[in-house]
Amino acid sequence: MSDSTPPNPAAKSHGRLSMRPTLKPRDLMEEARLVRGAWVARIITLFPDAFPGVLGQSLTGKALDFGLWRLETTDLRPFGEGKHRNVDDTPAGGGAGMVLRADVVDRAIQSAMVGAPMDRARWPLVYLSPRGQRFDQAMAHRFSRCEGLTLLCGRFEGVDQRLLDHHQIEEVSLGDFVLTGGEIAAQAMLDATVRLLPGVLGNAESIEEESHSNGLLEHPQYTKPPVWEGREIPAVLLSGNHAEIAKWRRAQSEEITAARRPDLWAAHQAKPKPKR
Ligand code: SAH
Repeated sequence: MSDSTPPNPAAKSHGRLSMRPTLKPRDLMEEARLVRGAWVARIITLFPDAFPGVLGQSLTGKALDFGLWRLETTDLRPFGEGKHRNVDDTPAGGGAGMVLRADVVDRAIQSAMVGAPMDRARWPLVYLSPRGQRFDQAMAHRFSRCEGLTLLCGRFEGVDQRLLDHHQIEEVSLGDFVLTGGEIAAQAMLDATVRLLPGVLGNAESIEEESHSNGLLEHPQYTKPPVWEGREIPAVLLSGNHAEIAKWRRAQSEEITAARRPDLWAAHQAKPKPKR
């Protein structure tokens, strides 16, 4: 984007449905139906070209093409100050690096939130931040039940605190490490969230059984060939006895969780046992 480009509040949509010029009327009706109810991700970033990125591949990419979810990016740059559209400045009080300006990011947020419900429970406004609450499967479920989600990707030393306070922004972290920007964190969180939307994964069962959904890590998986490098698939999995297979998987799941994640195991054991 050149410096002379005026601020363009219209978000760029990666929902590829709207780009097909030869839709038949029936397809158009279908498109409207899908897009109206579709879950929406809005990203505020200095690097809109980084999207959809890996989200454009495989299951999340197909779901994007089918209109099961929409992705809109808001480029932060055009909202910058002056001829050079500056978005950052030196930290008050001194120190290294640059800080994203509250006034600049505010303009981008105003633009990115157009049409979204004000109720943050229906449409969370999230700043990706290593100081935030740690993202997990429960949060992915919460996001997937909302109508949409706006993600603010930071860069440099982050954003002016007043902006976060003013908009009651929820800070969310991908983990206890520091990235150079929020874009990778945003894609990771969107991947985890989008795959929970209805219709995105073919087999809904795979969501219920996988790691972190029931408080346990998943059992090991095997596929053909039956013997590889002298290693056999556990005999029970080839027995055809579904009750025994389920029992074995459950036991493996518990063993692996106890060995690898004592924190999850303790929480699992503290939970009241469901009546079977
Ligand atoms: N100075 C900040 C780090 C800034 S890193 C601090 O010490 O807290 C630059 C940007 O990368 C941040 O604004 C944030 O948007 C993103 N980022 C870095 N680590 C992250 C993490 N673990 N989770 C989510 N976003 C992260």
